[in-house]
Amino acid sequence: MTRNYLIAGNWKMNLTATESAALAKEVVQLVSQNSSVDICVSPTFTALDAVSRMVNGSQVSLGAQNMHQEVSGAYTGEISASMLESLEVDYVILGHSERREYFGETDSLVNQKTVAALQAGLKPIVCVGETLEQREADQTIAVIQSQVEGGLASLGADCADSLVIAYEPVWAIGTGKTATPEMAEAVHAEIRAMLTGLMGESAAQKIRILYGGSMKPENADELLAQANIDGGLIGGAALKADSFISLIDSAAKQSN
Ligand code: PEP
Repeated sequence: MTRNYLIAGNWKMNLTATESAALAKEVVQLVSQNSSVDICVSPTFTALDAVSRMVNGSQVSLGAQNMHQEVSGAYTGEISASMLESLEVDYVILGHSERREYFGETDSLVNQKTVAALQAGLKPIVCVGETLEQREADQTIAVIQSQVEGGLASLGADCADSLVIAYEPVWAIGTGKTATPEMAEAVHAEIRAMLTGLMGESAAQKIRILYGGSMKPENADELLAQANIDGGLIGGAALKADSFISLIDSAAKQSN
Protein backbone atom coordinates (compact mmCIF):
# COMPACT_ATOMS: atom_id res chain seq x y z
CA MET A 1 0.00 0.00 0.00
CA THR A 2 1.49 3.39 -0.92
CA ARG A 3 1.55 5.80 1.96
CA ASN A 4 0.28 9.31 1.82
CA TYR A 5 3.06 11.14 3.65
CA LEU A 6 2.61 14.63 5.07
CA ILE A 7 5.58 16.96 5.47
CA ALA A 8 4.49 19.96 7.55
CA GLY A 9 6.68 22.96 8.27
CA ASN A 10 6.23 24.91 11.50
CA TRP A 11 7.87 28.31 11.07
CA LYS A 12 7.09 29.29 14.69
CA MET A 13 7.62 32.98 15.60
CA ASN A 14 10.03 33.59 12.73
CA LEU A 15 9.85 35.66 9.54
CA THR A 16 7.80 38.74 8.71
CA ALA A 17 4.95 38.53 6.23
CA THR A 18 7.27 39.60 3.41
CA GLU A 19 9.96 37.10 4.39
CA SER A 20 7.36 34.36 4.78
CA ALA A 21 5.92 35.04 1.33
CA ALA A 22 9.44 34.87 -0.14
CA LEU A 23 10.12 31.50 1.51
CA ALA A 24 6.73 30.17 0.43
CA LYS A 25 7.48 31.28 -3.13
CA GLU A 26 10.77 29.39 -3.12
CA VAL A 27 9.10 26.26 -1.75
CA VAL A 28 6.32 26.42 -4.34
CA GLN A 29 8.87 26.82 -7.15
CA LEU A 30 10.97 23.89 -5.97
CA VAL A 31 8.17 21.40 -5.26
CA SER A 32 7.61 19.16 -8.23
CA GLN A 33 4.15 19.28 -9.73
CA ASN A 34 2.12 16.18 -8.86
CA SER A 35 4.23 15.50 -5.80
CA SER A 36 3.02 12.33 -4.14
CA VAL A 37 3.59 13.94 -0.76
CA ASP A 38 1.17 16.26 1.03
CA ILE A 39 3.01 19.45 1.96
CA CYS A 40 2.07 22.21 4.36
CA VAL A 41 3.78 25.36 5.61
CA SER A 42 2.66 27.08 8.81
CA PRO A 43 3.71 30.72 9.10
CA THR A 44 2.84 33.01 11.96
CA PHE A 45 -0.69 34.51 11.94
CA THR A 46 0.36 37.85 10.46
CA ALA A 47 1.90 36.11 7.45
CA LEU A 48 -1.00 33.74 6.70
CA ASP A 49 -2.64 36.05 4.19
CA ALA A 50 0.55 36.70 2.20
CA VAL A 51 1.53 33.02 2.23
CA SER A 52 -2.00 31.97 1.33
CA ARG A 53 -1.79 34.04 -1.85
CA MET A 54 1.62 32.58 -2.64
CA VAL A 55 0.63 28.91 -2.28
CA ASN A 56 -2.78 29.31 -3.88
CA GLY A 57 -3.19 26.79 -6.71
CA SER A 58 0.04 24.96 -5.84
CA GLN A 59 0.84 21.61 -4.23
CA VAL A 60 1.58 23.38 -0.98
CA SER A 61 -1.15 23.72 1.67
CA LEU A 62 -1.36 26.29 4.39
CA GLY A 63 -1.23 25.58 8.12
CA ALA A 64 -1.67 27.74 11.23
CA GLN A 65 0.24 27.27 14.46
CA ASN A 66 -2.66 27.61 16.89
CA MET A 67 -6.28 28.75 17.18
CA HIS A 68 -8.87 29.54 19.83
CA GLN A 69 -11.53 26.98 20.68
CA GLU A 70 -14.48 29.38 20.59
CA VAL A 71 -16.23 30.42 17.41
CA SER A 72 -16.07 34.17 18.18
CA GLY A 73 -16.40 36.61 21.07
CA ALA A 74 -14.53 38.64 23.66
CA TYR A 75 -11.16 36.85 23.51
CA THR A 76 -8.70 39.66 22.92
CA GLY A 77 -5.75 38.67 20.81
CA GLU A 78 -7.16 35.31 19.73
CA ILE A 79 -7.93 33.83 16.31
CA SER A 80 -10.88 31.55 15.49
CA ALA A 81 -11.19 28.60 13.15
CA SER A 82 -13.43 30.52 10.73
CA MET A 83 -10.84 33.31 10.52
CA LEU A 84 -8.27 30.70 9.48
CA GLU A 85 -10.69 29.18 7.02
CA SER A 86 -11.27 32.54 5.40
CA LEU A 87 -7.56 32.56 4.48
CA GLU A 88 -7.74 29.04 2.98
CA VAL A 89 -5.92 27.46 5.89
CA ASP A 90 -6.13 23.64 5.75
CA TYR A 91 -4.17 22.45 8.78
CA VAL A 92 -3.81 23.76 12.31
CA ILE A 93 -1.09 22.68 14.75
CA LEU A 94 -2.60 22.17 18.21
CA GLY A 95 -1.03 21.43 21.59
CA HIS A 96 2.55 21.97 20.44
CA SER A 97 4.86 21.38 23.39
CA GLU A 98 5.85 25.06 23.35
CA ARG A 99 2.18 25.99 23.82
CA ARG A 100 1.84 23.42 26.58
CA GLU A 101 5.01 24.61 28.32
CA TYR A 102 4.85 28.39 27.91
CA PHE A 103 1.10 28.98 27.65
CA GLY A 104 -0.21 26.30 29.98
CA GLU A 105 -2.23 24.40 27.39
CA THR A 106 -3.75 21.27 28.90
CA ASP A 107 -5.05 18.10 27.25
CA SER A 108 -8.58 19.30 27.90
CA LEU A 109 -7.95 22.61 26.12
CA VAL A 110 -6.23 20.79 23.25
CA ASN A 111 -9.33 18.60 23.03
CA GLN A 112 -11.66 21.61 22.83
CA LYS A 113 -9.51 23.14 20.10
CA THR A 114 -9.34 19.85 18.20
CA VAL A 115 -13.12 19.45 18.26
CA ALA A 116 -13.58 23.08 17.15
CA ALA A 117 -11.05 22.69 14.32
CA LEU A 118 -12.73 19.54 13.01
CA GLN A 119 -16.16 21.15 13.21
CA ALA A 120 -14.86 24.03 11.09
CA GLY A 121 -13.41 21.67 8.48
CA LEU A 122 -9.75 22.20 9.43
CA LYS A 123 -7.28 19.34 9.80
CA PRO A 124 -5.81 19.40 13.30
CA ILE A 125 -2.22 18.28 13.84
CA VAL A 126 -2.37 17.29 17.51
CA CYS A 127 1.08 17.24 19.12
CA VAL A 128 2.09 14.87 21.89
CA GLY A 129 5.47 14.09 23.43
CA GLU A 130 7.37 13.41 26.63
CA THR A 131 10.04 15.48 28.34
CA LEU A 132 13.51 14.12 29.03
CA GLU A 133 12.66 13.66 32.73
CA GLN A 134 9.56 11.67 31.83
CA ARG A 135 11.53 9.47 29.41
CA GLU A 136 14.22 8.84 31.98
CA ALA A 137 11.59 7.94 34.55
CA ASP A 138 10.09 5.38 32.11
CA GLN A 139 6.89 7.37 31.83
CA THR A 140 6.93 7.93 28.07
CA ILE A 141 4.04 5.67 27.13
CA ALA A 142 1.89 6.70 30.10
CA VAL A 143 2.40 10.39 29.23
CA ILE A 144 1.63 9.86 25.56
CA GLN A 145 -1.42 7.79 26.43
CA SER A 146 -2.92 10.51 28.61
CA GLN A 147 -2.17 13.15 25.95
CA VAL A 148 -3.73 11.03 23.18
CA GLU A 149 -6.79 10.05 25.24
CA GLY A 150 -7.23 13.55 26.65
CA GLY A 151 -6.59 15.41 23.42
CA LEU A 152 -8.87 13.16 21.36
CA ALA A 153 -11.65 12.66 23.93
CA SER A 154 -15.09 12.23 22.34
CA LEU A 155 -13.76 12.00 18.79
CA GLY A 156 -15.02 9.15 16.63
CA ALA A 157 -13.74 7.25 13.61
CA ASP A 158 -15.33 9.81 11.27
CA CYS A 159 -12.47 12.25 11.94
CA ALA A 160 -9.82 9.81 10.69
CA ASP A 161 -9.37 11.39 7.26
CA SER A 162 -8.73 14.82 8.78
CA LEU A 163 -6.93 14.10 12.02
CA VAL A 164 -3.12 14.10 12.19
CA ILE A 165 -1.02 13.28 15.27
CA ALA A 166 2.55 14.51 15.70
CA TYR A 167 4.81 12.65 18.08
CA GLU A 168 7.42 15.17 19.19
CA PRO A 169 9.68 14.16 22.06
CA VAL A 170 10.20 17.49 23.83
CA TRP A 171 13.91 16.79 24.36
CA ALA A 172 14.39 16.51 20.60
CA ILE A 173 12.69 19.77 19.56
CA GLY A 174 15.12 22.40 18.40
CA THR A 175 17.98 20.69 20.23
CA GLY A 176 19.62 18.83 17.36
CA LYS A 177 18.98 15.59 19.28
CA THR A 178 16.79 13.23 17.32
CA ALA A 179 15.06 10.11 18.57
CA THR A 180 16.65 7.13 16.83
CA PRO A 181 14.38 5.63 14.18
CA GLU A 182 13.79 2.66 16.50
CA MET A 183 12.87 4.87 19.47
CA ALA A 184 10.50 6.91 17.34
CA GLU A 185 8.94 3.86 15.71
CA ALA A 186 8.34 2.21 19.09
CA VAL A 187 6.29 5.20 20.27
CA HIS A 188 4.51 5.58 16.91
CA ALA A 189 3.45 1.93 17.05
CA GLU A 190 2.08 2.49 20.57
CA ILE A 191 0.16 5.56 19.36
CA ARG A 192 -1.28 3.51 16.49
CA ALA A 193 -2.42 0.91 19.03
CA MET A 194 -3.99 3.64 21.20
CA LEU A 195 -5.84 5.00 18.16
CA THR A 196 -7.05 1.50 17.34
CA GLY A 197 -8.42 1.20 20.88
CA LEU A 198 -10.15 4.58 20.61
CA MET A 199 -11.47 4.54 17.05
CA GLY A 200 -11.03 1.07 15.60
CA GLU A 201 -8.49 -0.48 13.27
CA SER A 202 -9.52 1.08 10.01
CA ALA A 203 -9.62 4.64 11.39
CA ALA A 204 -6.29 4.12 13.16
CA GLN A 205 -4.65 3.06 9.90
CA LYS A 206 -5.88 6.20 8.15
CA ILE A 207 -4.71 8.70 10.78
CA ARG A 208 -1.26 10.03 9.95
CA ILE A 209 1.29 10.03 12.73
CA LEU A 210 4.14 12.47 12.06
CA TYR A 211 7.50 12.51 13.80
CA GLY A 212 8.87 15.86 14.95
CA GLY A 213 12.11 16.72 16.70
CA SER A 214 15.19 17.83 14.78
CA MET A 215 14.18 16.00 11.62
CA LYS A 216 16.63 17.07 8.92
CA PRO A 217 17.91 15.88 5.55
CA GLU A 218 20.56 13.68 7.22
CA ASN A 219 18.12 11.63 9.29
CA ALA A 220 14.86 11.84 7.34
CA ASP A 221 15.30 8.75 5.15
CA GLU A 222 15.68 6.42 8.10
CA LEU A 223 12.89 7.98 10.13
CA LEU A 224 10.42 8.03 7.24
CA ALA A 225 11.20 4.39 6.41
CA GLN A 226 9.64 3.26 9.71
CA ALA A 227 6.33 1.44 9.42
CA ASN A 228 4.32 3.86 11.54
CA ILE A 229 5.96 7.18 10.63
CA ASP A 230 3.73 8.90 8.08
CA GLY A 231 5.62 12.15 7.71
CA GLY A 232 7.25 14.91 9.70
CA LEU A 233 6.49 18.10 11.57
CA ILE A 234 9.52 20.23 10.94
CA GLY A 235 10.78 23.32 12.75
CA GLY A 236 14.33 24.47 12.01
CA ALA A 237 14.78 22.58 8.74
CA ALA A 238 11.56 24.11 7.37
CA LEU A 239 13.01 27.63 7.50
CA LYS A 240 15.24 27.01 4.48
CA ALA A 241 13.64 25.98 1.20
CA ASP A 242 16.41 23.56 0.22
CA SER A 243 16.37 21.53 3.44
CA PHE A 244 12.56 21.48 3.49
CA ILE A 245 12.47 20.26 -0.11
CA SER A 246 15.03 17.59 0.73
CA LEU A 247 12.65 16.25 3.41
CA ILE A 248 9.80 16.20 0.89
CA ASP A 249 12.06 14.29 -1.50
CA SER A 250 12.85 11.75 1.25
CA ALA A 251 9.14 11.18 1.79
CA ALA A 252 8.52 10.90 -1.96
CA LYS A 253 11.23 8.24 -2.22
CA GLN A 254 9.51 6.19 0.49
CA SER A 255 6.12 6.44 -1.12
CA ASN A 256 7.33 5.27 -4.56
C1 PEP B 1 8.74 21.55 16.10
O1 PEP B 1 8.81 22.60 16.71
O2 PEP B 1 7.63 21.06 15.88
C2 PEP B 1 10.00 20.90 15.71
C3 PEP B 1 9.96 19.64 15.41
O3 PEP B 1 11.13 21.68 15.70
P1 PEP B 1 12.61 21.22 15.20
O4 PEP B 1 12.42 20.51 13.89
O5 PEP B 1 13.37 22.48 15.08
O6 PEP B 1 13.14 20.30 16.26
